[in-house]
Amino acid sequence: MKLFDLSISEALQGLKKKDFSVTELTQAHLNRMEAHRKLNAYITETPERALKDAKESEKHYGKGTARPLEGIPFAHKDLFCTKGIPTTAGSDILRTFVPPYESTVSQKFIEAGTCLLGKVNLDQFGMGATCRNTVFEPSVNPYTRTGDPTPLVAGGSSGGSASAVAGGLAMGATTTDTGGSSRVPASYCGLVGLKTSYGRLSRYGCIAYASSFDTPSLIARNVKDTALLFENSAGHDPKDSTSAPMDVPNFSNNINPSVKGLKIGLIKEANVPGLSAEVKERWDHYAKQLEDAGAEIIEVSLPHLPYALASYYLLTMAEASANLARYDGVRYGHRSKDAQDLEEMYKKSRAEGFRDETKRRILIGTYVLSAGYYDAYYMKAAKVRHLVAQDYQKAFEKVDAILMPTTTNGAFDLDKELTPLEDYATDIYMVTASLAGICAMAVPVGYSQEGLPLSLQIQAKQYNEHMLFNVGQAIETMAPPMKKPSEIL
Ligand code: GLN
Repeated sequence: MKLFDLSISEALQGLKKKDFSVTELTQAHLNRMEAHRKLNAYITETPERALKDAKESEKHYGKGTARPLEGIPFAHKDLFCTKGIPTTAGSDILRTFVPPYESTVSQKFIEAGTCLLGKVNLDQFGMGATCRNTVFEPSVNPYTRTGDPTPLVAGGSSGGSASAVAGGLAMGATTTDTGGSSRVPASYCGLVGLKTSYGRLSRYGCIAYASSFDTPSLIARNVKDTALLFENSAGHDPKDSTSAPMDVPNFSNNINPSVKGLKIGLIKEANVPGLSAEVKERWDHYAKQLEDAGAEIIEVSLPHLPYALASYYLLTMAEASANLARYDGVRYGHRSKDAQDLEEMYKKSRAEGFRDETKRRILIGTYVLSAGYYDAYYMKAAKVRHLVAQDYQKAFEKVDAILMPTTTNGAFDLDKELTPLEDYATDIYMVTASLAGICAMAVPVGYSQEGLPLSLQIQAKQYNEHMLFNVGQAIETMAPPMKKPSEIL
């Protein structure tokens, strides 16, 4: 048994029983990271910190004071500020930024006893669905098609998190999900990708993309591990004014995969033309399986789903244009070397510091917020957002959870070019949950004919993550087992 193949809960048991030490477990991951640098999963590796954390964890095991995730090798998306460790947001503007403080979420993972392996790759500021919109090399999917070595996208924006966790380069990782960034890469890499309810995990110290959508989130190899990570990172935080004052019970020990009597909704409008036959087949198949296990399957409607992408992109670009205004080359981050005056310094620092896609979003966002266009675009999009939230409210009067595809297809070639609009369209199944602030989770459901992971998504009311874990584990038990990292790479 390879140590990097273990799930988090298996590793915790092994550590408790002294089958192996925290240092051995951590070293196995550090070796794996070194052997698979071609995945471009990590931006910054922190081996010294990981081994220091491991020693600390060993003391805790020795004294009998082991914390809930004691000794688990872990990675953070490079959007979470980590004190003293570079935090780049996948950008040049923050390439040399070393935060003087720790984000609440990464602080919670320190307190839970994890060992920090490093910071993982992402689409710049979380903007993208393939992890190619980064100033570093794009993260690569550990999976390839059977008999075909063509590299594939890991998905985005949390491509580094997914590549690392699927490849055995970390046991779990933080992500953020503004409009799918946890779920899309989970779908392409055969992982469980949680999008937390808005307000559940603190945004303090998590670099902002679109603040009214941003949800710090999580990726792991199975549902129980995801619940373990969730219960150790959720919770009210006075430092984030939108943080929800919710209790955080033990989720991982209370997963109930019996779906008997549950009402599961299938969204009528989700059967879009681009949906692949294979994903559609899985969707039908698992709906039937849930029904056979005692759930009631009910068709529900999200009538505003066709307008959700436009609304999401208008609103997130508007918010991004405001959030990214802080990068002006004055206080921190990149400052252009050859500016003659103040105005030129702003312009050149920003021109050099952002990638084209980020600039596009800042421009469009500024445009839709400008006087004269605000009502026509921003306000209209905000109204659609409200309507989508109402659609969900009505749907959840009838059902406990919704089952739908995560992505329309499996992963695609790393060098396949997409226009910006094609790229945005990847998020068709993502953005409704994000507009409404509800929680959602991608669950792997076996492989396509080509050997690539396929995924279904479960959605539930805001703060009903336990429902995701219950239905998710039900599907996980019905689905074929997913490959372990050593079987993939
Ligand atoms: N593809 C989405 C976007 O670019 C993903 C955003 C996210 O969840 N960070 O906006």
